[in-house]
Amino acid sequence: MRETNFLIENNARQLWHPMAHPADMQANPPRIITSARGVEITDIHGKTVLDGVGGLWNVNLGYSCDPIKQAIKDQLDELPYYSTFRGTTNAPSIELAYELAEWFKPDGLSRAFFTSGGSDSVETCLRLARQYHRVNGQPERTKFIALKKGYHGTHFGGASVNGNQHFRRNYEPLLPGVYHLPAPWPYRNPFGTEDGAEIAAAIGRLFEEEIAFQGADTIAALILEPVLGSGGIIVPHESFLPLMREICDRHGILLIADEVITAFGRTGAWTGSRLWGIKPDLMSTAKAITNGYFPFGVAMISETIAQAFESNKNTLATISHGYTYSGHPIGAAAAIATLKEIRRLDVATNAAARGAELDQGLDGLKARHELVGDVRGIGLMWALELVGDRARKTPAAKDVVQKVQDIAYEAGVLVRTSGANVIISPPLVITAGDVARIVAALDAGLSAAGGR
Ligand code: PMP
Repeated sequence: MRETNFLIENNARQLWHPMAHPADMQANPPRIITSARGVEITDIHGKTVLDGVGGLWNVNLGYSCDPIKQAIKDQLDELPYYSTFRGTTNAPSIELAYELAEWFKPDGLSRAFFTSGGSDSVETCLRLARQYHRVNGQPERTKFIALKKGYHGTHFGGASVNGNQHFRRNYEPLLPGVYHLPAPWPYRNPFGTEDGAEIAAAIGRLFEEEIAFQGADTIAALILEPVLGSGGIIVPHESFLPLMREICDRHGILLIADEVITAFGRTGAWTGSRLWGIKPDLMSTAKAITNGYFPFGVAMISETIAQAFESNKNTLATISHGYTYSGHPIGAAAAIATLKEIRRLDVATNAAARGAELDQGLDGLKARHELVGDVRGIGLMWALELVGDRARKTPAAKDVVQKVQDIAYEAGVLVRTSGANVIISPPLVITAGDVARIVAALDAGLSAAGGR
């Protein structure tokens, strides 16, 4: 590794960072993380903190998961690459597809299409949704419905169904034929209520109205996250997803669950779909599937869709889509080892238990700090929304949010900021002691930023 000064000086000279202004990265250099063990990361100055972000909601088992590392090393020696395009395939991706069909059986999903990450998985689901309707004799079903505040990655399809202007504006015009419903968000919504059930019902009515307006026979799919992640951890009322599923069914509209964050235990359930008791037609997932150790993703496909493709001998049913790294043997080997570890450690149960403790701790912070307008989350995905004025819900100033993060880091925990939200998404293997560390560090940050 080059010396510290070289790295600090050169970081943003040649390297453009995702989701950041290049000039800001030059003026305010990000922390350079150089090593990690367990659930802790160490920066270039030798400071070690608890990773309250969990990589990017993907390192669910922490950084010292030897079985995954070993699987990657072994696969690298055996077969470092071979494609799954038509004429060839490889053993790890066959085995992984078999394992995933078992894993996602309760969600009604039985076929796997491999990708290189979350955005690819979303793109795959959107494309397969349109193609399914063609195969099924309804080629005019091309439109998509999505939720405001939803995040679905950065490809043009995903950006088009994205529900946040911040991720859309600079890249418009996007895909035509995409319509957005309000998010099921009690804290901020256009319905004048904080009652989750009422909000769910109101969005259901808007969905029905949009379907009537567009014509059901023009709509391919509804895409949503079972818990909205990047949009600020919005947990819908328990009636919301079953209602959306029922409306989709009644109108022949597919439901795509974007579970890039929520699959594999983060909500305290094994999938977000299972959490709410629905079966999606397609599911995009990635991130924790390889514990963040290798870029990899998958689009999971329901039996009904699979049957429609597999029984149709027409070229319409040929999948004219795929990535050089679809079914990458190293990623597949990493994923097989990850699934084994996730199951062995029962991380969903730990996420639910530690999540309940974190909930209590964060509620305590809200009681003590005026700065905290809202606490929301489930399992081990949480947000503190910071406000300048609780009654008016005015978002806290940027420097206030930044200060909370900086002081929390000094106090030994890295958390993430997104607008006025402080996001907490630690590895799912944290202990009760780690939860206490997170709450104490946030307490220190809020005290400093709130002037207490
Ligand atoms: N969908 C959701 C719900 C996500 O949270 C993300 C990433 N945060 C993506 C898609 C995109 O995944 P990736 O960054 O791996 O392309």
